[in-house]
Amino acid sequence: MERFIDRCRQEGLKVTPQRIAIYEVLLDSKDHPSADTVYRKMSATHPTISFDTVNRTLLTFAEIGVIDMVESYSVSRRFDTDTSPHHHVHCIRCGHIADFVSPDIDAIMLPEEIIGEYQVIGKRTVVSCVCQECASKNG
Ligand SMILES: [Zn+2]
Ligand SMILES: [Zn+2]
Repeated sequence: MERFIDRCRQEGLKVTPQRIAIYEVLLDSKDHPSADTVYRKMSATHPTISFDTVNRTLLTFAEIGVIDMVESYSVSRRFDTDTSPHHHVHCIRCGHIADFVSPDIDAIMLPEEIIGEYQVIGKRTVVSCVCQECASKNG
């Protein structure tokens, strides 16, 4: 939370009680929540907040780097409070995203044409899978 507040101040973003509340919801949600999930949790404690406000706040957080926006195969964006290098296992059926770390993957060299042409700011591997729960439902 302190890191969050510092980062906001650095970026000239006002640390409002509402922004803190949204960030707290994010910290509580380890499952890479969508804006919709965050909105539903927020409206329990802040009935007057709009989806748009929550969504815009999440995008702002992602812009200043306090959270990551992560891939999703569905239309809704998913967010990640863990901005340290890690990789994802992504269930293509239910959308569950799990974290894993792999120094081996981190050490993979990118092709020269990529390094030459783009300013690389991060690498993340996404492993597409069917999670155990979904696999057993299909059973
Ligand atoms: Zn699944
Ligand atoms: Zn993650």
